[in-house]
Amino acid sequence: MKSLLMQSPVAIAFGWIWAYIFITLLPLLILLIYPPLTGRGFWIDLSVALGFIALAMMALQFALTARINRIEASYGVDIILQFHRYISLVAFTFVLIHPLILFVVQPETLQLLNFFTAPWRARMAVLATLALIALVITSVWRQQLKIPYEPWRTLHGILAVLAVGLGLGHAIGVGNYLGLFWKAVLWTAIALTAIWLLIYVRLVKPWLMLKKPYLVEEVRPESGNVWTLALRPIGHKGFCFQPGQFAWITLEISPFRMREHPFSMSSNGDNTEKIEFSIKALGDFTNTIKDVPPGTKAFLDGPYGVFTTDRYEDTAGFVLIAGGIGITPMISMLITHAERGDERPYLLIYASKNWEDITFREELDELKKKLDLTIIHVLKELPEDWSGESGYVDKELLQRYIPKRRATRQYFICASPKMMDQVEIALHQLEVPPTNIHMEHFNLV
Ligand SMILES: Cc1cc2nc3c(=O)[nH]c(=O)nc-3n(C[C@H](O)[C@H](O)[C@H](O)COP(=O)(O)OP(=O)(O)OC[C@H]3O[C@@H](n4cnc5c(N)ncnc54)[C@H](O)[C@@H]3O)c2cc1C
Repeated sequence: MKSLLMQSPVAIAFGWIWAYIFITLLPLLILLIYPPLTGRGFWIDLSVALGFIALAMMALQFALTARINRIEASYGVDIILQFHRYISLVAFTFVLIHPLILFVVQPETLQLLNFFTAPWRARMAVLATLALIALVITSVWRQQLKIPYEPWRTLHGILAVLAVGLGLGHAIGVGNYLGLFWKAVLWTAIALTAIWLLIYVRLVKPWLMLKKPYLVEEVRPESGNVWTLALRPIGHKGFCFQPGQFAWITLEISPFRMREHPFSMSSNGDNTEKIEFSIKALGDFTNTIKDVPPGTKAFLDGPYGVFTTDRYEDTAGFVLIAGGIGITPMISMLITHAERGDERPYLLIYASKNWEDITFREELDELKKKLDLTIIHVLKELPEDWSGESGYVDKELLQRYIPKRRATRQYFICASPKMMDQVEIALHQLEVPPTNIHMEHFNLV
């Protein structure tokens, strides 16, 4: 019984949270066990504590963004990235309060801001804070500052390493607090873990991907300005995935260049021979897919994600709500379950611009022969003889189709951010239990 509880996904998810809290507070614990010999007073202790907590949080950011499968499988990438964003603001606030308390309680410490006369430990603190300020500004206002994603990602990595490296240098430099053996061990362990995560993400992972290449077998046009990229593993078995999951794709270039994009698989999750992605031409990278010649080398990092019907084996059926290119995880779910001979009912509510734009329209109709599948198309621009649904997927529309016993289904939503918000609110109003609603956001950053 006990081991069952320990294995359950909820127990594991809670376990990670406790591990995070424990590591964040560990420096404080050691400070409590081995207090400094001279009493420094409450405010200085608070300042030091905030600095320590902020530094541990910043070092842990490397773990949050390293795409560690076991952590990611508990929450999904978007929840982890949301947490990464919010917790970085908390750490940033602590970093700013840490010296402010010192300046108020011991005004003579203001001299440490004079970069030319200050000791190195103080200079490192100033530089770490500047790196952190630049990190926060370029992340929060990236789009307003018109920084393209790829250069931003490189800059983000460099600033993060500078902020944490200099922060650790500062902490170690303030030997006063680190003189004791266990404190030195702790910070060295944190520093080494952060360095290892960096090496893992930048070198080990790309090297593992390099050993498992794929070839582009075909690039197929689909309706709605979408292109399906079919990949075949070369010299290895490929991978199975749970339908609805996604992978990061690198095309043509070496995975060490770290220019990768996330896409949901649109094929049968149980077929390791061929993995397909259906990509809407919307921007710099996605516009180039149609011109990718067959035979091009590709590298995949995946599968990732918790947006999958496979996590709900015991549910009585599914409601899939897609808008535009949000159909890709849904088609993978439907194809996979059709091939598996699933007998449960599927309801697909699918919003598109117009009839011609509907991606996978024929494939979806074909799937009705193999699955208990009901498809409701919702169009913006209506053909002359259209008698189906139109406009927005709102509460009234959903009420017409979703089953009365709401909790008997799992609800999956993937669409534009605006549509996803509206559908989520409507489902709440229709008393769908929040735990039965699952969403995949295509705009991670
Ligand atoms: C989990 C997930 C699954 C997705 N599945 C699909 C799918 O099946 N089909 C599909 O067409 N699209 C999918 N997307 C969206 C797709 O990843 C982006 O549209 C694409 O990366 C944009 O690249 P671009 O250079 O063409 O666009 P650009 O116009 O250059 O960039 C537009 C915006 O896309 C984001 N972006 C750009 N590059 C990246 C990158 N390397 N990594 C992450 N975000 C980036 C940035 O916010 C950027 O501002 C998915 C996204 C996620 C997060």
